[in-house]
Amino acid sequence: MRHITILVPMYNEAENIERFYSELEEVTSKIEKYSFTYLFVDDGSVDGTFVQAEELARKDPRITVVELSRNFGKEIALTAGIDMLDCDAVIMMDADLQHPPSYVPEFIDKWENGFEIVAGRRVSIEKQPLMRRLGSFIFYKIINLISEVQIVPQSTDFRLMDRVVIEQLKQFTERNRMVRGIVDWMGFRKTHIEFQAPVRTAGESVYSYRKLIALAVNSFTSFSLVPLKAGGYLGVFITFVSAFLLLFMIIDRLFWHFGNFTNLSFVLVANTFFMGLVLIALGLIALYVGNINAEVVGRPLYLVRRRVEGGDEEKPCEKRE
Ligand code: UDP
Ligand code: MG
Repeated sequence: MRHITILVPMYNEAENIERFYSELEEVTSKIEKYSFTYLFVDDGSVDGTFVQAEELARKDPRITVVELSRNFGKEIALTAGIDMLDCDAVIMMDADLQHPPSYVPEFIDKWENGFEIVAGRRVSIEKQPLMRRLGSFIFYKIINLISEVQIVPQSTDFRLMDRVVIEQLKQFTERNRMVRGIVDWMGFRKTHIEFQAPVRTAGESVYSYRKLIALAVNSFTSFSLVPLKAGGYLGVFITFVSAFLLLFMIIDRLFWHFGNFTNLSFVLVANTFFMGLVLIALGLIALYVGNINAEVVGRPLYLVRRRVEGGDEEKPCEKRE
């Protein structure tokens, strides 16, 4: 029987975990075609999440609980979970019921239709503060403008991934990471499911504005070199404009005399011109830094879905039973 793991990162979710588990169990127990296991990653909670999870695990042998040594953040918690997976497909979910278990069958349905990545897309974020909605709108506009891969707005970590994807994902070594960005970069056959996100059941979202901004900056810099090159482009602009202005001022002083530019203005414009040159130099350095960055991050150059050798039956990347 094929095997699906539900991977849940948890940070201070003691109040939610029980209810999350029972709602999920209600859904998965009706799906008889697959066997399910749960992998709970306790991301250094301080509210007894681990104890609660452990208690569930004692009753249900399909639950595995992993406790990280401290709070590493959701992206790392997910990564830790992914590294431990051995299943035909994983479904990643939040513990606060904002990723409703009722959508799980839909994810599996798409998977059965041959999609290797099924991403949940949040359609309505009721009761989200305006600032947050605006922030997320701007974030996706910018990142899609500057990034080499398209990132679907409102797509979330509520995702199903096939074994091929999981195995390849384990090879990624970059330290600054946004899991869903990497998954979008990977290619493979992808589709979306739209879901309504209810408000958090208990506790508070730990994603403060400060953390969200840090995450956004992180994703800009890990998916695009544009911020780095921007200085250089600005330099080109400043250099050209100030060069023309300087030329105009010199000709004016020599022949036309209608501007009466003071000596100070010459100094100022010349100074601006040189600042432009400095910015251009910075932009050039950015190009080299960009190359170094790409080498250091060490993303795989390409990913292979499968390989068929003459005479053999098709061999998927990783053996299935
Ligand atoms: N989470 C985590 N580590 C963190 C922050 C969050 O594992 O440092 C988990 C959290 O327990 C939840 C999921 O990530 O299961 C999403 O977190 P949250 O609901 O706070 O984020 P939001 O819904 O605002 O995106
Ligand atoms: Mg949440």
